Amino acid sequence: MSLREIRENQQIVRRMKEAARTQVVSHAYILEGDGSVDKRCLALEFVKAVLCGNRQSDGSSCDCCISCQRIDHGNHEDVFFVSAEKNSIKDEAIEEVQRRLANRPNQGNRNVVIVERADTMTVRAQNRLLKTLEEPAPGTMILLLSENAEHLLPTVRSRCVLYRLYSHGAEIAENVSLAAAQTGEHWLNREPFYRLVKSAEAALSDRGTALEFLDALELWLRDCLISLYDRGGELSSNRWPQTAPQLKSIAGRCGKAEICKAVDAVEETRQDIQHNINTAYALKGMFLR
Ligand SMILES: [Zn+2]
Repeated sequence: MSLREIRENQQIVRRMKEAARTQVVSHAYILEGDGSVDKRCLALEFVKAVLCGNRQSDGSSCDCCISCQRIDHGNHEDVFFVSAEKNSIKDEAIEEVQRRLANRPNQGNRNVVIVERADTMTVRAQNRLLKTLEEPAPGTMILLLSENAEHLLPTVRSRCVLYRLYSHGAEIAENVSLAAAQTGEHWLNREPFYRLVKSAEAALSDRGTALEFLDALELWLRDCLISLYDRGGELSSNRWPQTAPQLKSIAGRCGKAEICKAVDAVEETRQDIQHNINTAYALKGMFLR
């Protein structure tokens, strides 16, 4: 298997392939998703792509070189797993991580650590990990798999790239999709600020909903872009209240450059919220950009 064959969480998979292809890889990621999401599988495919000795042009792993095979068989010397002992990940386990990371990689140029159920790390363990996140050795790649990243210390979260994962079908709640589609339409139509805030109201309540709202808004904007090229078949779904021709007309009036700017604003706002900026403040700020 490789990233190429993964059908869910396409936005995240695309970013993973891009990181592997360009080898611009962050030193730490949080893969957040509930129990129905196979975070371990996605983490392994990401690591395979990054370490692959014969990567494909889109950034996916070849799935057959020695590195890929070793990761599949769980015996790659540079890929280290940490999992909860009883119900938590203790300080000693992170101390072992630090010892591993102090050594040079054996095969490639990266040391990879995959922490399963990372939200069960004790506060002491997280504080120890924080030191590694602050000053990672070159080539360090740490993946924290978590059901709820809010259980991690804000200082840990803010030093990681957060990938939010959804299980197939359950991706984004319907009311959040609706709010995102309405807000997107007001936004691209340059309607007054108060209308934008009103339609986004549902997303202003808490951080989780706000991030979900931003995911939905980005999907909606992406569908607007795609509609410009009249490839209706690629629309992410018929989840929106607008029909494909309606999306096309909204996008046509606004233009490609403006939509791309809006997508950038959404991504920046997502980062702001991940860095613990107040959600209502960050969302309102997004519309004013
Ligand atoms: Zn390979």
